[in-house]
Amino acid sequence: MFGSLHEECGVFGVWNVGNAYRTVCTGLLSLQHRGQEACGIVTFPPEGKPRVRKGAGLVWSVLDAEEEALPGACAIGHVRYATSGGGDTDNIQPFLFRSAGAYFALAHNGNLVNAELLKARASRSGALFHSSSDSEVFAHLFAGVPDLRGIGAALNRVDGAFGLLVMTGDRLYACRDRYGFRPLCIGKLGEGYVVASESCALDAVGAVFLRDIEPGEIVAVGAAGMESYRFSRSVRHALCAMEYIYFARPDSDIEGVNVHAFRRESGRILYEENPVAADIVIGVPDSGLSAAMGYARAAGLPLETGLVKNAYVGRTFIQPAQEMREAGVLMKLSPVRQVVRGKRVVVIDDSIVRGTTSRKIVRMLRKAGAAEVHMKISSPMLLSPCFYGIDISTEAELLCARCSLDEACRAIGADSLSFLSEEGLLRAGRRTDLCMACFNRQYPTDLYR
Ligand code: AMP
Repeated sequence: MFGSLHEECGVFGVWNVGNAYRTVCTGLLSLQHRGQEACGIVTFPPEGKPRVRKGAGLVWSVLDAEEEALPGACAIGHVRYATSGGGDTDNIQPFLFRSAGAYFALAHNGNLVNAELLKARASRSGALFHSSSDSEVFAHLFAGVPDLRGIGAALNRVDGAFGLLVMTGDRLYACRDRYGFRPLCIGKLGEGYVVASESCALDAVGAVFLRDIEPGEIVAVGAAGMESYRFSRSVRHALCAMEYIYFARPDSDIEGVNVHAFRRESGRILYEENPVAADIVIGVPDSGLSAAMGYARAAGLPLETGLVKNAYVGRTFIQPAQEMREAGVLMKLSPVRQVVRGKRVVVIDDSIVRGTTSRKIVRMLRKAGAAEVHMKISSPMLLSPCFYGIDISTEAELLCARCSLDEACRAIGADSLSFLSEEGLLRAGRRTDLCMACFNRQYPTDLYR
């Protein structure tokens, strides 16, 4: 039904660390799963102009491969994964701006829902935009190099999802939207600070985790240490459920819950809600493995390696054409015949989007001799697109948006198909709130359409 620019990204920033450029490279490498299309770093040396390095491609090929580090003890970086409007290099972040002889840079993870409105308004008053990215809107709202209150005032005018880093000559600001859609946390590294989309990136640089940035909060770090400012009181803890289900790395902790533990628990609840008679449990690598562990343990069944993933094939999901996607699944996954032959197999995956992956997996397991294939999904049925930064396609492409459970089961060719309930999902993280709009169409914000 809807088609729009979706961006899934990762941000990483450091304040007052030994070699900011190399530290940000390392941080971005461990956030690479959040975006593989492009990446960039802006460093702020003590004297002179900030330095920028960015390009299309993976961190190791664009940034880490450079022998010469950019100077400075403060820097922010970004990894980008855009699925439409994509290859345009103007959209590669961080963005650097100059105002009255001073500089500021920003890096944004998430999607703003009122960006077009704000852009149109700014354009009418003569504002010029360098990119087609919604993130540039922030800069126009700042109207000059911002301070804490200026950023707060600007953030009250945008609606939607942001984990946002802003760097000026004397401070690093880490900001999270009032719903807390996207994760963002802060840690300490020696005398300095590190902020990252996920805690796995703090671990990668040897930083000590301090805490998550709260929804509606800006944390500023500078020479005077760390300061917190609430720019909004209308706070929900509506973290995007897909962060736990699919997107984040299993070794990250988000809002006090480890991602692997969340997935394992969702597998346990999946069994509790929908047990089926079977011989073995297998997980679809990588994001189905933790839930498979929880399911197998609860069911008292052996957890097996029934599918092997070729780590050198890129993500199938982002291939633009359907034929490429189909071939991609085959290149990426292969069955272990010795394991599945003659067995009633429970297969656990994290989600069904178009159904391409599940259909291919069922077919390849049957071809490999599986007696029965029961597909179990550790999330509810995806019914609606995301407007907050997760690429969940258009409604017309979502398998479950256009058919019943039985029809979906027939479409993928499985002996049975079941999904985790919304209640089960909340229980898996011991949470009372999550954004589950892609499952229930209850969008926490206005969509401005
Ligand atoms: P599909 O083959 O279209 O049904 O996609 C399902 C597969 O895509 C699952 O195995 C998921 O692990 C993966 N997936 C789910 N959500 C996303 C996303 N937003 N971006 C990329 N891959 C995803």
